[in-house]
Amino acid sequence: KAEVPMYFNYGITKKVLGSRRTMKSGFVSPVAKDSMNSSPHHTQSPPLNSTPEDIDERLKNIDSKMVDLIKNEIMHKYKNMDWDDIAGLEYVKSIIKEAVVYPLLRPDIFTGLRRPPRGILLFGPPGTGKTLIGKCIASQSQSTFFSISSSALTSKWVGEGEKMVRALFAVAAVYQPSVVFIDEVDSLLSKRSESEHDSSRKLKNEFLVQLDGAATNDEDRVLIVGATNRPQELDDAARRRFARRLYIPLPEISARKQILKNLLGTVCNDLDESNIQEVGNQTKGYSGADMDILCREASMEPLRSIPPDQIPHIVKDNVRPVNIDDFMSALQSVRPSVSKDDLAQYIEWNKEYGAFR
Ligand code: ADP
Repeated sequence: KAEVPMYFNYGITKKVLGSRRTMKSGFVSPVAKDSMNSSPHHTQSPPLNSTPEDIDERLKNIDSKMVDLIKNEIMHKYKNMDWDDIAGLEYVKSIIKEAVVYPLLRPDIFTGLRRPPRGILLFGPPGTGKTLIGKCIASQSQSTFFSISSSALTSKWVGEGEKMVRALFAVAAVYQPSVVFIDEVDSLLSKRSESEHDSSRKLKNEFLVQLDGAATNDEDRVLIVGATNRPQELDDAARRRFARRLYIPLPEISARKQILKNLLGTVCNDLDESNIQEVGNQTKGYSGADMDILCREASMEPLRSIPPDQIPHIVKDNVRPVNIDDFMSALQSVRPSVSKDDLAQYIEWNKEYGAFR
């Protein structure tokens, strides 16, 4: 299409995440480099030549207080993130790049059959990087990141959740390309219960409408990323609407070692490669978040050997480095948070409903 798409004609300063404009290695470009670089979507800022009335078009029926609240509390400032900041999950990362990141960057190529899904679901045990992935998608696709938990929608804005969802997606469309991350999406879209209130039914319906994309322009670039630790509680209609459902498992040993090395980079320590391997071996079943807690616990050990009355005066360089023994004692108190039974349930659900396409 030669003309500038409609959705760029908003009289606001377009807020985008990310400054990098290069395609990541590993992605086989479907077009020659030259034509990629000349794309208006990819390399140039959209023209901002419209009048303020244009802004009102999308937000005109939306309570301005809600718009402000969304901008202040749900819309996030740009934070540069790279896929390497997420340990392991190589397969998941490659699927996500192809299915959603490149389409957000190159909407002109990913049309028709290549059209990206409106929503993807990330499911798996808590603390495995689902939120990190949401942030990374936004950063890598130079999108505005919106993040909200279902409990905030259902409890903080009691009775107003439905209006809030509508406002959220209206703002997301104005600031597109956008990634809307919904944590604990199961509690928003759970199987209907007898006692369901009218307001929560309306909230759920509004969200389903947004997932369908029915309330939006075909050209809109707004991706919904739902995250859940309880995929089995999702209602059938909701599950179907997340066209791609990706299992985010516990980290393998190589990923655990990488998380360990990254975290140890922030504190003085004398662990060598064989020590890292040892801790990696002993942390089977630990989530990324468990690894974080373990490292924090181990890093406190050197301080515990200092008498409390000396801590205010001690010279920083006199605090001994964290060592393997500190990790061995931390391993006694920090245990994996995910049970074998829970894991089996995720694997089962993945077999039945996990889908990449
Ligand atoms: P989830 O959303 O799956 O519950 P998060 O993405 O919030 O989990 O991860 C919680 C914390 O655990 C992160 O801030 C990070 O410190 C650590 N973590 C989890 N998974 C990973 C990973 N794959 N690579 C690096 N750090 C991770």
